[in-house]
Amino acid sequence: MIDLRSDTVTKPSPEMRKVMAEAEVGDDVFGEDPTVRLLEETVAEILDKEAALFVPSGTMGNQICIHVHTQPGDEMICDDQCHIFHYEAAAASMFSGVQLKTLTGTDGLLSAEQIEAAINDDDIHHAPTRLIALENTHNRGGGVVYPIETIAAIASVARKFNIAMHLDGARLFNASVYSGVDPRRYAALFDSVMVCLSKGLGAPVGSVIAGSPSFISKARRARKAFGGGMRQAGIIAAGGLYALEHHRHRLIEDHQRAKQLALAIGELKPFTLNLDKVQTNIVIFSITDEKLNAEDVVHTLQANRILSLAFDKKRVRLVTHLDLTDDDIHQTIAVFRKLYS
Ligand SMILES: *Cc1c(COP(=O)(O)O)cnc(C)c1O
Repeated sequence: MIDLRSDTVTKPSPEMRKVMAEAEVGDDVFGEDPTVRLLEETVAEILDKEAALFVPSGTMGNQICIHVHTQPGDEMICDDQCHIFHYEAAAASMFSGVQLKTLTGTDGLLSAEQIEAAINDDDIHHAPTRLIALENTHNRGGGVVYPIETIAAIASVARKFNIAMHLDGARLFNASVYSGVDPRRYAALFDSVMVCLSKGLGAPVGSVIAGSPSFISKARRARKAFGGGMRQAGIIAAGGLYALEHHRHRLIEDHQRAKQLALAIGELKPFTLNLDKVQTNIVIFSITDEKLNAEDVVHTLQANRILSLAFDKKRVRLVTHLDLTDDDIHQTIAVFRKLYS
């Protein structure tokens, strides 16, 4: 099977497994796991933040950040396609009592004007707006990258109104590879940043959140409360360290392969896609053929040994990643041409 469902399907390579098996470990709830500490220092350094915290998943990372930035009854602004709103099982309302105000962006990307207009005033009828969360790259937006100028404009609105900024940077390194903007420059515009090790980077488990020392010490307590305190977690942190060192700079290959797929699929009659939006490792194409829906395409592809994801009734998502070869891409294109030319 050629698995294009997600960049989370990668499996640790023999080299990665070796460093994991040999990792020095300790009880991280006691702060005694040297490999976890090294991972946290490494990510803090990459993002130029003062402190960082290893967490079991991106969802927990986002939710811990929301929890620390807010009080129950506060409001958070985000776009209506973002992971926090769409894919985190209402955790912000369950665990932090936070109301989400969702705005409709362009491919998930919001503007400073739009956000400024959505900030609540001091009227006692309104929830205090405490947090703005952005997603870069934007998954449901098709992997598009936020222009740094847009984020800077949003951050200055946030400062003006004393509102915290959180970055869901599950694929921040993909954004950096596309834009050439150092991850530090993105991170500098946010009070907290979450990055995933288990997406394009190819580690088996884990995410890291970064921020100020006081933010991270509160986050450490929240992580315990959320059940995310792990013991000899150096075993999995070692996979993350390996991924940061060896897999960060090859993300460009995933982007090139996504572009190759998009170019070929865009030429086929039943489908349409905007090539300019294929910026990173995600390809979302729309089905224009009236008789065909996304489930049909996914099933037909699966019968031809290609796994994809139905995004909605008329859209299918493909994601490129570390475990694919050039041959997989060529085969996928050949199957698409055979089926849909
Ligand atoms: C995958 C992802 C997350 C976190 O997902 P987990 O599966 O909980 O690790 C968060 N945000 C975005 C945009 C993602 O794609």
